[in-house]
Amino acid sequence: MRETRSTFGLSQHQIDVNMDINDEYNEFLDIATAASAQYAKVMDLAKTLQAALAAKQVELDQQASRYRQDVAYHKACAERARGKLQATSARLNKYKSETEALRQHNKHLSKDLKAATAKLEHVKHLCCDICMDSLKNVVTGCGHGYCSDCLSTWLRQRSNDDNNDEDNSDMDSLTEQMESNCPICRKVINANQDVWPIFVENEGGTSSEVVYVDSDND
Ligand SMILES: [Zn+2]
Ligand SMILES: [Zn+2]
Repeated sequence: MRETRSTFGLSQHQIDVNMDINDEYNEFLDIATAASAQYAKVMDLAKTLQAALAAKQVELDQQASRYRQDVAYHKACAERARGKLQATSARLNKYKSETEALRQHNKHLSKDLKAATAKLEHVKHLCCDICMDSLKNVVTGCGHGYCSDCLSTWLRQRSNDDNNDEDNSDMDSLTEQMESNCPICRKVINANQDVWPIFVENEGGTSSEVVYVDSDND
């Protein structure tokens, strides 16, 4: 049997094989085209995602930057507050120690005042009961002490009241004519008989008369 020949001299078998190869090639071409389209789609998606990611990253960076600024601001605020607190605390401590010093000083002053008052109390009975100022230097028969100035004035005035006709105005010391009542107990005192000088004991065992000192003339 003779084999049929085509126009180009190819046998039917060769033509069939060529057709098959051609079909297979077209099939691969279709697959490759589809894959290429798919790849392009995936690439587009990837680009979109990448852009979104980049945008998100920018947003995150901005947020992080804002956050860092906030933290720095709050840190500075806290630092300032801490500084103020330290200064206030130092001032407070200073006031505290000053107050304590004043308190101690006050305590000492109060102690001194107490001692001075006690001393004053101790010598109060030495002052004249009329002027409360000069030291007693005379004592009456009834046992009451005065400064000679106050007692002579007292007795002279009372004596003059009793004896208006007598002129004793030039007398400034205790004299026989003066007689009146004790300013404290009202007992009759005669300047000549009932008034004695007060003596004090000295360190060496001797005693001396208390001298009247006018407190206005010192
Ligand atoms: Zn007096
Ligand atoms: Zn008296």
